[in-house]
Amino acid sequence: MNNYKFWFVVGSQFLYGEETLTQVEKNSKIMVEGLNSSEKLPYEVVYKNTMKTSAEIKMVTMEANNDKTCAGIITYCHTFSPSKMWIGGLNLLQKPWLHFHTQFNKEIPNEEIDMNYMNLHQSAHGDREHGFIGARMRLPRKVVFGYWQDEDAQKEIANWMRAVVGYHFSKDLKVMRFGDNMREVAVTEGDKVEAQIKFGWEVNTWPVGTMVKYMEAVTDEEVDAKMQEYQERYEIATEDIESIRYQAKEEVAMKRMMDEEGCKAFSNTFQDLYGLKQLSGLASQNLMADGYGYAGEGDWKTSALTAVMKAMTADMNGGTTFMEDYTYDFTNQLILGSHMLEICPSVAAERAKIEVHPLGIGDRQPPARLKFEGKAGSAIVVSLVDMGGRFRLIVQDVECVKPPQTMPNLPVARVMWEPKPNFREGIKCWILAGGAHHTVLSYDCNVEMMQDWARMMDIEFVSINEKTDPIQFEKDLLISDIVWK
Ligand code: MN
Repeated sequence: MNNYKFWFVVGSQFLYGEETLTQVEKNSKIMVEGLNSSEKLPYEVVYKNTMKTSAEIKMVTMEANNDKTCAGIITYCHTFSPSKMWIGGLNLLQKPWLHFHTQFNKEIPNEEIDMNYMNLHQSAHGDREHGFIGARMRLPRKVVFGYWQDEDAQKEIANWMRAVVGYHFSKDLKVMRFGDNMREVAVTEGDKVEAQIKFGWEVNTWPVGTMVKYMEAVTDEEVDAKMQEYQERYEIATEDIESIRYQAKEEVAMKRMMDEEGCKAFSNTFQDLYGLKQLSGLASQNLMADGYGYAGEGDWKTSALTAVMKAMTADMNGGTTFMEDYTYDFTNQLILGSHMLEICPSVAAERAKIEVHPLGIGDRQPPARLKFEGKAGSAIVVSLVDMGGRFRLIVQDVECVKPPQTMPNLPVARVMWEPKPNFREGIKCWILAGGAHHTVLSYDCNVEMMQDWARMMDIEFVSINEKTDPIQFEKDLLISDIVWK
């Protein structure tokens, strides 16, 4: 977690006199304190003055832009705040913006209410003016409506805060690619220049030979320390200790390379293992457990997305992993997700076991990997595809279940889930939208967080959820195609 803060900027004007402005400030501070003490927000909110003039608004915006600890701004109009006054400032704003439409008092006090009361408590009035200018200027912003002490409103703010952290993390993210995209595969391809423009991701390639060189430099002591860590985290269920030590060496080498370059995500491919004895399995899984993004077959988009979603939810412990749709269970209406090796143990329902099995592809030694069953619970699967000229983020709500089969001969980690709105329609919609077989599965992120993030990144967002109707969905995709062209 970092020391991000969110500025609470209150809209008003000089019209109501000094006394009202003093009260606005007092009340706003009480609201900020209430939000902070709710324990529903992952980051602190800081009261940042009441705005009366366009000069003040420009000033606070420029301050927010330049202050590295300011993650985003939350605005609220306690009174009426004429919006032409906000145009200059909002034009300059380079940080994510949330318009919190709320009100200091929960109820209307029957005896107390008079015109003075109305002048002070008029956010239902002032926030509509504020809403208009956001809409008029076509500015990406999150709107939250609700009483500031209500948990639902606070949860929405918390979701947005996490998305904002994903936004900033994204802007600094570097991805290390070992080898290229898997030959002939379309969905894992993409425009890396566009990705850097939109997301800030710096996606570059390093030769596998360099990794081999780094591995040669890894000491026995470093491997021992890694083995110690593996023992603490996982159950070693193999006699083949050498294979585990080889993964440890790969992990130390990859981590060193990434840390030297400031990379927080990586991809590799079984088609480029020149000089390596094993494809990284356990090594990639343990790096993911420590927050690094990963995806297989050169899929840098999913790798970066894994890292972003992990960063958003660094304070949570439900788990987030690279995932792949594999096989259906039509009887139980479930999807079996897995990968040839690399599922993050953060989603394990049990203590993960280290086992060694042949891979079948890649023409190398049997790699050590973590095997476990995923947990039951609500989650999302997210896919980022390049539609040619734009990125599309597809988010599907899913319900993970305890797998009904034990699958004793399946040598990899597995998670099973039912997609929303149901097995038949959910999968149909996914295919219609062009969602990949590679996804990020997360028990911590939710659809609202991802929508907020997509809005900030200025990319197309598609949700498949409980209420999705395939006929309307197809129509929405058609319209979206025109909008995003
Ligand atoms: Mn794959």
